[in-house]
Amino acid sequence: MADADAVIVGAGLAGLVAAMELADRGKRVVLLDQEPEQSLGGQAFWSLGGLFMIDTPEQRRMGIRDSAALALADWMGSAQFDRPEDHWPRRWAEAYVEFAAGEMRGWLRGMGLRWFPVVGWAERGGGYADGHGNSVPRFHLTWGTGPGVIAPFVARVREHAKAGRITLSFRHRVDRILTRAGAAIGVAGARLAPDDMARGAPSNREVVGDFEVYAASVIITSGGIGGNFDLVRKAWPRDRLGPAPRRMVAGVPAHVDGRMIAISEAAGGHVINGDRMWHYTEGLQNWDPIWPNHGIRILPGPSSLWLDANGRRLPAPCLPGFDTLGTLREILSTGHDYSWFVLSQKVIEKEFALSGSEQNPDLTSAKWREVIRARLLSGKGAPAPVEAFKAKGADFVVAKTIEDLVADMNRLAGGNRLDASTIRAMVEARDAQTDNPFTKDAQIMAILAARNYRGDRLIRTAKPHRFLDPANGPLIAVRLNILTRKTLGGLQTDLNGQMIGANGAPVPGLFAAGEVAGFGGGGYHGYNALEGTFLGGCLFGGHRIGQSDAVA
Ligand SMILES: Cc1cc2nc3c(=O)[nH]c(=O)nc-3n(C[C@H](O)[C@H](O)[C@H](O)COP(=O)(O)OP(=O)(O)OC[C@H]3O[C@@H](n4cnc5c(N)ncnc54)[C@H](O)[C@@H]3O)c2cc1C
Repeated sequence: MADADAVIVGAGLAGLVAAMELADRGKRVVLLDQEPEQSLGGQAFWSLGGLFMIDTPEQRRMGIRDSAALALADWMGSAQFDRPEDHWPRRWAEAYVEFAAGEMRGWLRGMGLRWFPVVGWAERGGGYADGHGNSVPRFHLTWGTGPGVIAPFVARVREHAKAGRITLSFRHRVDRILTRAGAAIGVAGARLAPDDMARGAPSNREVVGDFEVYAASVIITSGGIGGNFDLVRKAWPRDRLGPAPRRMVAGVPAHVDGRMIAISEAAGGHVINGDRMWHYTEGLQNWDPIWPNHGIRILPGPSSLWLDANGRRLPAPCLPGFDTLGTLREILSTGHDYSWFVLSQKVIEKEFALSGSEQNPDLTSAKWREVIRARLLSGKGAPAPVEAFKAKGADFVVAKTIEDLVADMNRLAGGNRLDASTIRAMVEARDAQTDNPFTKDAQIMAILAARNYRGDRLIRTAKPHRFLDPANGPLIAVRLNILTRKTLGGLQTDLNGQMIGANGAPVPGLFAAGEVAGFGGGGYHGYNALEGTFLGGCLFGGHRIGQSDAVA
């Protein structure tokens, strides 16, 4: 006798949405997670809450004209699908674009979500009209950031739990998917000892018992591999990006361990596009870490000068905020696993944002009063979390002259690779172009283009200015580490979220959604992401599974 209609492995965003929707339809659901209750919501809690949506009132109010056709063209130019196994990923991408231009905003608004009025322009791309990148701003920052995204789903799941439709079981680590005659019939695993660690910190793995849960449908929503550097290195696409970095920082908690992927394969699931991944090049070592080797990503505006480890300027379009993987390839081609931003105080004040709910307490509070106080009334200086990194972060160097700055950069990195006179000449040449309304410098052109957008001019892009003018100082350099984050490939699924085995046939009773399914189909981003599509894919994937008659 089954314990439930569906058992869901992983109480992150995808699992919460699927559980809620199934229970809304009267299904009985068991929702399991290896972490304790305080980590409910998984990675989404820590996220910035940016969502990729298309042709919204927020965009229109900012003067942005978007459409499903333009977004689909951008998506396909970025994804560059080129493999036979891209069949389901491509169909998921098309379905998501339709959703993001259609019912998505109304559905989320009905759940209580709201968005910051200035739409962000993330991942501007590789410089070609038909290639990678967002033609227009589409990054909708949710009021309350990540906690604001999960809150309504957590509340509804708890209501269902109270009514007995959902059983929430924390500290249940799934080690096996139970099958009979090729069909999934349940899961088995270890019960882990309680742990009162802080949310997001690693929890103990002490086994205190075991368990089995039987259900008509088994749904895997266990997240990606970004917290498991061994898996990241094993899957690393050397041919496209060069050798895996020796040193990386972790952009995700330790529970993003990828264990369920092999467990799902053992039950008939099939991973595709495992070599496609999304790691950032602007990682900082967190001076106040929550999880091991905790890295924080800078979401940069376009003005910082970007140098490789040898002090050479990265070629356009490897500009801040443009082409994540193109820039990663360029950085790794030097044989080093870090790069540098060189900037002025004026740039850090206007352009540095840090990804993560805890790094944006004002937006996370969802109170205008806090946002105005933190961003407009704080007097001189960048927002407090950015200033804290500048003062305490291991990767920051601050100096009055370029010679002192370069000396400190050399001290930080070791090896005396940087030459102060070469860098001075480079910055002087760059500075001279800021007074030139024509300009031949591609980065200054990009800054001017960014400032054509009201949102960027208002809060994201500093007026072009001379870095070497002391009035704009002090000078700042930031060592940027490679930060692991997202898994673009994953378990192959059809449009119901049902796993498709290596033989191309559906695996009876077995489903996947969210990051473990490559956000849809086994990798709906293809090779490149447009940002906001990760949370978006978890919402969409959970929603589809929850509504599918194929489940339970
Ligand atoms: C700092 C940060 C900022 C981000 N910002 C954004 C953003 O602005 N926009 C955007 O689109 N995306 C963003 N993302 C990415 C996005 O948050 C994630 O991709 C998404 O939340 C993944 O959700 P998920 O439900 O698939 O998996 P997860 O959130 O990883 O949840 C999976 C759950 O499964 C559990 N689990 C795993 N294995 C087992 C097992 N064997 N047994 C039992 N339980 C198991 C885990 O404990 C976990 O709770 C950000 C991520 C981070 C970390």
